[in-house]
Amino acid sequence: MNSTSTLSVWQQLKNREITCEEALRWLVDEEGTVTLSLLDVEVSYRFLREFPDRSTLPPLLPLLLWQNCFYLGCPVPVSLDTIRRLSDRTFTNIKIIPVTDKSYTTWYRTQNIDANRLSSQPFINPLTGEHEQENISEITRELLAKAVDQIGRIKTIISGALRNRASDIHLEPTTDGLRIRYRIDGILRDITLLPPEISRRAIVALKVMADMDIAESRRPQDARIGDKYTSGSESDLGLDMRVSTLPCVGGEKAVIRLLPRENPFAGMDELGFSDRTLTIYKGWLKQPQGMIIFTGPTGSGKTSTLYTSLQTVATEYVNVVTVEDPVEYILPRITQTQVHELAGMTFAAGLRAILRQDPDIIMLGEIRDHETAETAFRAALTGHLVLTTLHTNDAASAIPRLKDIGPDPGLISDALLGIVAQRLVRKVCPHCAVPYTPTEFDLKLLGIHPDQAKPEEWRVGKGCARCFHSGYSGREAIIELLDVDDTLRQIIYEGTMTQMYRYLAESGFESFRMAAIAKVTHGITTIQEVLRVLPHSAMSRRSVNLS
Ligand SMILES: [Zn+2]
Repeated sequence: MNSTSTLSVWQQLKNREITCEEALRWLVDEEGTVTLSLLDVEVSYRFLREFPDRSTLPPLLPLLLWQNCFYLGCPVPVSLDTIRRLSDRTFTNIKIIPVTDKSYTTWYRTQNIDANRLSSQPFINPLTGEHEQENISEITRELLAKAVDQIGRIKTIISGALRNRASDIHLEPTTDGLRIRYRIDGILRDITLLPPEISRRAIVALKVMADMDIAESRRPQDARIGDKYTSGSESDLGLDMRVSTLPCVGGEKAVIRLLPRENPFAGMDELGFSDRTLTIYKGWLKQPQGMIIFTGPTGSGKTSTLYTSLQTVATEYVNVVTVEDPVEYILPRITQTQVHELAGMTFAAGLRAILRQDPDIIMLGEIRDHETAETAFRAALTGHLVLTTLHTNDAASAIPRLKDIGPDPGLISDALLGIVAQRLVRKVCPHCAVPYTPTEFDLKLLGIHPDQAKPEEWRVGKGCARCFHSGYSGREAIIELLDVDDTLRQIIYEGTMTQMYRYLAESGFESFRMAAIAKVTHGITTIQEVLRVLPHSAMSRRSVNLS
């Protein structure tokens, strides 16, 4: 309903177009549901201004002011004493109309939101004082209806994403309107659809916010914007957003990547390492020199592991420098540089420049070519700890990949401390987890004996409002760790992949399969989730066995 062209029920009552009984019937139906769009803010204002401290008030929703009487909606019984107190303060009569909890909380929420401020603050239910289990789509629609302009709409959408720990927002033109989707725990979800008549304007507003060329809609654009947001009791937390647009059928699609500036990284202990792999991994980070390689596709969480590790090692005693493409998060105590191919700042050039800057620890975004690889490995043998990434399916495949890129195998075997391969799995939602008894087929999928299965610890999520009915909440990494010992060094130098796999099988290598078994049999995640994210080879390669 368009509030500017339609009079509120209160206005119509004042114009004597309707009676007070009719007005109340329109506002509150027989079940106590309030049609919020028909309310008049002036009524709320006049009532609430008499009560600067609202904490002493029962939950009241001002409906009408008529003939010196306030008609107030309330989801709970109100005592005569309280009614007298309200009456004394407002110098009016008071009539209480029963309304539903939901009407009251919905009204309360729209009263207490500032569409022009970004906020990740979860909603508190005013009746129970508890965190509200949010139905994102419903609430987003409610709040969008309150936004007065396009910028307010975009900010409402961004706040919703922050509240629901989304990493990306997609705005996609369709014939039905602008579809808004959030990526939460790695999976996209439909949130709402903006009407077709404002689709284009919403995209233009976003382009204005991002300082893009709004006259240009035929070529892709990208920009970075900074803003502040509120979270819990803290206000003014920094937020970086990378906005990109892409011309497509039906208009322009925009994607906003949210990058909260306040250290989004958990501690090392929360990344998903097992006790054993964490001990080994921390050992590598304490080495004065050597190379650590992180592998996994985009979205496997390797950046989080890498940044968390850098934060752990960046003390006052060392110089930590990075070459990245692009710099995703700004980290304290670290000099971060960005690749700029056109300006000649390639990974190789950046690395050479860094080496003249007396570094102790170097993070190299990616190794793609022979020259960078050679320089990086030499640095790792001459007093520098080098961390870098490769795109391979698992830890062991990083070895042939490195040999393909071409540094001397002797350099690789001497410098390499180890390889971390990872994938992110969603964790079973703690709010709706129930025990699950594994079937024979489940055990076969994992390739384990019933004795190893710990069937009493398996869990699945039934689905609840807090996990958007997915049964999962939050993610952690499944980690495969290849620790380079003397035997492996020898095999890397002059052996074959077959020899390597045989040795790994014998030496209790922490493979993806072992890590997956541990997570499923401890009820952290499910078999379906493990099969969804792990490369197929990981579960079928039985040559790498349980120790
Ligand atoms: Zn749940």
